[in-house]
Amino acid sequence: MNTNFRAIPSTDSVLQSSTGQAAVQRFGHQQTIAHIRALLEQERDAVRQNGKLRDAETLGALVLGNLEATSQAALRPVFNLTGTVLHTNLGRALLAEEAVEAVIAAMRAPVALEYDLAKGQRGERDDHLRALICELTGAEDATVVNNNAAAVLLVLNTLAGHGGGAIVSRGELVEIGGAFRMPDIMAQAGARLIEVGTTNRTHEKDYRAALEQENVALLLRVHTSNYRIEGFTSAVPAAILARLARSSGIPLVNDLGSGTLVDLSRWGIKREPTVREAIAEGCDLVTFSGDKLLGGPQAGFIIGKKELIAAINRNPMKRALRIDKMRMAALEATLKLYRNPDRLAQHLPTLRLLARSHEDIATLARHMQPAVAAALGPACKVSIIDCASQIGSGALPLDMLASAGLALCPIKGTGAALEQLATRLRQLPIPVIGRITEGALVLDLRCLEDEAGFIANLAGFSNVRLI
Ligand SMILES: *Cc1c(COP(=O)(O)O)cnc(C)c1O
Repeated sequence: MNTNFRAIPSTDSVLQSSTGQAAVQRFGHQQTIAHIRALLEQERDAVRQNGKLRDAETLGALVLGNLEATSQAALRPVFNLTGTVLHTNLGRALLAEEAVEAVIAAMRAPVALEYDLAKGQRGERDDHLRALICELTGAEDATVVNNNAAAVLLVLNTLAGHGGGAIVSRGELVEIGGAFRMPDIMAQAGARLIEVGTTNRTHEKDYRAALEQENVALLLRVHTSNYRIEGFTSAVPAAILARLARSSGIPLVNDLGSGTLVDLSRWGIKREPTVREAIAEGCDLVTFSGDKLLGGPQAGFIIGKKELIAAINRNPMKRALRIDKMRMAALEATLKLYRNPDRLAQHLPTLRLLARSHEDIATLARHMQPAVAAALGPACKVSIIDCASQIGSGALPLDMLASAGLALCPIKGTGAALEQLATRLRQLPIPVIGRITEGALVLDLRCLEDEAGFIANLAGFSNVRLI
C-alpha cells in the first residue's frame, strides 16, 4: 500500500485544533502533548495498515477523550445492583449524610483531634468516641482501630503476645474472606492457639480441661459470621464461658464480627446478638466492625474492661493500627444516630436498604421496566422478577431478604452475549454492577435509590448489537 505518512497531522496541528486546545485548557500542556504523541505513534501504524487518514480535529477529539478517561477517579461511584447490601468489594456500608458532612468538616479545617479544648492541653484521640460508645454498649471503656481484623490482632497480641494460650472452640476457627483466618491471626499475634472440642460440638468440660494447661492467657469466642453449623451441635453460652474465665482469672474475649448495636428484628431482619448483650453476658472485651451492620466507616471497635483497654492502649502496635480524623468524625456522627433508634432507618443507609420491603422494591421494578427496556433496545429482553438479596460481609449469611429486580436477557441469549451486556453496563459513566444467574443478568433493585440518575446513566448505552 502506498501510504502518505506526511499527510498525517503534526503534533502541533493537533495541538492547535479546537479540541486540542480544549484539552490544553482542561488538562494542561504537558499531558496533552504526551497524549498527542502517543496517539500519533499509533496513527502511523493504523495508516500503514488501512491507509485511512484522519484530520487534526478528529485526532484532537480522540486525545481529549483519552485524557477524560484517564482522569476519571479509579474509586468512582457505581450502582450496586448485586443484591448484596454490604458488598466488601464495593466498599461495604454507605455513610449517612450526617457522617459525610462530619468527614468534610474534619478535612477542611484543623480539628481538636488530640487536644483538650477545656484545659488547653494535649488530649487523647479516643476521648471523642469513648463516652458515646460506652453509652451505646454499656462497656466501661473503648478504643477504635483500623478494622476488626486489627482489633482482634491487637487484643490477642496484648493479652497473649508472648506465647500465651488462647482457647477457642474448633467450631469457631473462622476464615473471613481472604487473609483473615483465626489460626493465622493467632500466630501473627504471637499467641498459642489451644483448640478445644470438635467442629460441631464443644462442651464446658472441654474448656475446663484446656484451662488446666500452663500459661493460658484468654478464652476467645468467635462469631461464626459467614457459616452455620447445624444439626447435632452444641456450643457453650457466653455467660458460662464468662464464669469459667473469671474463676481462672483470665479474660473472655468475644469477636462479634458484625456487631450490631440494635435489635434488628424491629425492622424485619433476623435478630443478631447485640454488642450490649455481649457485654452484659460478662465478656471482658468485645470486638466488632465499623462498616458491617453498624453502617459506618471501616473501623474496628475494642470495648470492655478499663484495665484491659488501658493495656491495649499501651501496646506500641496500637499506634500503628489507629484511625485518622476523617474516620473518627464519620464514626462519631454515625454512632450519634443510634441515640434515636426511631429514626435510625431513615438516616442510616445500611439499615434503610436492609429494611426496604419487597413491595416497595417490586413497585420500583414495575415503574422502571419500560424505561430500561427502551434504553437497552430490542436486542435485550427486560423482565420484572422476584429475587433474594443478602446482607453481605458475612452477616447472617443464610437469611435472604425478599427482593425484586429486572432480569436482562439478550434475545440471542448465548453466554457470550450475556457477558458482553454485563461488560457494557460496567462501561457506563456510572458503572452498573449486577449478577449473572440462570442465563440472565439480574439487577436487584434493593440498593437503587436514585431511579432518575440510573435511567439518565443508561442513555450512555447506545443500541449496540449483542453477539
Ligand atoms: C468480618 C469479621 C472480621 C474482620 O472484620 P473487618 O472489619 O473486615 O476487618 C473478624 N471477625 C469476624 C467474626 C468477622 O465477621
